Formats: sequence, C-alpha cells, structure tokens
Amino acid sequence: MKSENITLIAGGVGGAKLAEGLDAIESINLSVIGNIADDDTFHGLWVSPDIDTLTYSLAKVINREYGWGLSDETFNSLSTLSKLNEATWMTLGDKDFGLHIYRTMRRNSGSRPSDIAKDISKAFGIKSNIILPTDDIVQTKLLTSIGWLNFQEYFVKEKCKPQISEIKFEGIEKALPTKECIESLQNADLIIIAPSNPLVSLNPIIQLPGIRETLIRANAPKIGISPFIGNKTIKGPANKMMEELGKKPNAIGFAEIFSDIIDLYFIDKSDKNLEEDIQKMIKNTIFTDILMKNQKDKLNLALLILEASEKLKR
Ligand code: GDP
Repeated sequence: MKSENITLIAGGVGGAKLAEGLDAIESINLSVIGNIADDDTFHGLWVSPDIDTLTYSLAKVINREYGWGLSDETFNSLSTLSKLNEATWMTLGDKDFGLHIYRTMRRNSGSRPSDIAKDISKAFGIKSNIILPTDDIVQTKLLTSIGWLNFQEYFVKEKCKPQISEIKFEGIEKALPTKECIESLQNADLIIIAPSNPLVSLNPIIQLPGIRETLIRANAPKIGISPFIGNKTIKGPANKMMEELGKKPNAIGFAEIFSDIIDLYFIDKSDKNLEEDIQKMIKNTIFTDILMKNQKDKLNLALLILEASEKLKR
C-alpha cells in the first residue's frame, strides 16, 4: 500500500475510535479535523472536550470505559472546587486539569488555538495530525424545554434529558476555516466522514463557511460511516436529537444530511432493509460490521475503508 494522505472529519467518541484504527496503519499520513463547538470555560479554563478525546485516544491514555478523560484519574481538584461551592458537574480529572491550564495559559498569551493543539499532540507523542477546523470561537447552543443551553450543559449537566427544538452554532457565520483544515481537504487522497453525531459534531465543522464547498470540490473520494445501527446510536444522544428535530434517527437520516458529500457509505450489516432508500441518495453502499468494540474492530474497519477507497478510485 502506498503512503496516502487521509483526512478524517470527526467528533469525539465515535470519531476517535475510527481515528485510532486509521492511526494504527503505518503507511498512511492521517489528519483528523476535530470539533471545537463543544468547547466551553470551566473554573476559568478553556476546555475542548472533543479535541481532548481525540488527543487522549491517539496517545492511548484515554479512559477506555468512558471513551473520554484519562485513565487512572483522580478528582482531588474537583473536590476542592466543590468545597468552595463551585459547580462541579463537568467531571474534570486532576491530570486532565493540567491540559486545560496549559491550553488556557497559551490562549491568554495569544497563541493560535491550532498551534496549541499541535504542540499538545506532539507532547503526547501522537504521529497523526490533529487539526482544528477554525481558530475562531464557534459554540453549539441548543434550544430546549428548559431554555437555551450550551452543549456541555445539555450533555453533561442535564444528561440530554430536555427535549430540543433548535440547534445553532454561535459565531459560525463569521468563523474562518484554518489553512491546515482547507489544505488537508484539498491535498487528501481520501476523505472520511467519521461515525459521529451529525447534528452537533459533524455539522459544526461542515457548516463552517467554505468547508462544504471544499469537500464537494475535493478530488479525493469521500467515504461516510453511519453512527447508527437500526434506530439507535452506539453511544450518546444522536438518535434522540434526530427524532426531536423531526429527522430519521438512523442511517437514512445521516445520509439525508451528507448525501451531497458522500461517494460511498458504510452502513451496518443489520440495516440491509434501508438499502433501497439510501441508494436513492448515495449509490455506493457497503453493508458490514461498523461497531468498534475493541482495537481489532477499529483497525479492521479502517482497513476495509482503505480497501473500498482503492476500488472507488479505479
Ligand atoms: P461525542 O462528541 O463524544 O458525542 O462523539 P461523536 O460525535 O464522535 O460520537 C458520537 C457518535 O458516535 C454516536 O452517534 C455513536 O453512535 C457513534 N459511535 C460510537 N461508537 C461507534 C462505533 O463503534 N461504530 C459506529 N459506527 N459508530 C459509533
């Protein structure tokens, strides 16, 4: 296999799993464009949950049970904050705090967020490139039955319970994509849309000014992976959110959002019944095992994607 430039557009947990599978393939040069719209400030620190999930996963220090945070964490800083009557619903571990302190310090001294992410990834010994889609601030806001919430308030504090009726990405109209993001899409031999939450992980990247057009125009084949099996997500609230917004909470719903971009679509083998409807939108489909339970599954799915992309190029 020749050395290829592969660009993965990814959210947190689902995206990071596939990123790990691709990262394990020596011959490829992987760039992962992550989501920054879940970012927020806690205790005066800038926290970037999806980028950190990618970083910790690729550095192999992730807490495998949760799919986020660091393994072997302690929570002493949070206990102190709680004693001081700070709200501590965002579970930040002691080791994790170090990263947020570093990021905030660098941001406050004027460093470009992309450079900070690059330096963190280097210090963690990651060989793949973690790319920020924009250096500007874009934040997901959800209109819910209890009012407008930031993403972490909805996801962590409210445990995704409130019904949602609208999602907006504050700041997106004026945000500029980074040069690293545009170049990695333009120079890619293959672009992969990860099995991530389409509404709050992929959309805030793809809806940045110019990104959808760059994707459509890019020469590389574009492969999408469904984050749904049947009407369920593997983890997280994507199916509930899709339903509440009147979208189909399955592989069809995902295709409806990205069919203008995707050339080839990986769907779970148990979703064969959706084939006819999906092929009206995306002609090339592969029904296979898309559940990544362990490292072997991640690598297997990554290898299958590469093999399929070769056929697509011929
Ligand atoms: P978040 O930002 O942490 O919510 O992460 P993502 O948006 O990247 O991931 C959430 C999505 O990943 C959910 O919709 C899950 O269904 C999907 N997901 C998680 N694990 C897997 C997996 O093993 N296979 C597939 N196909 N999707 C997965």
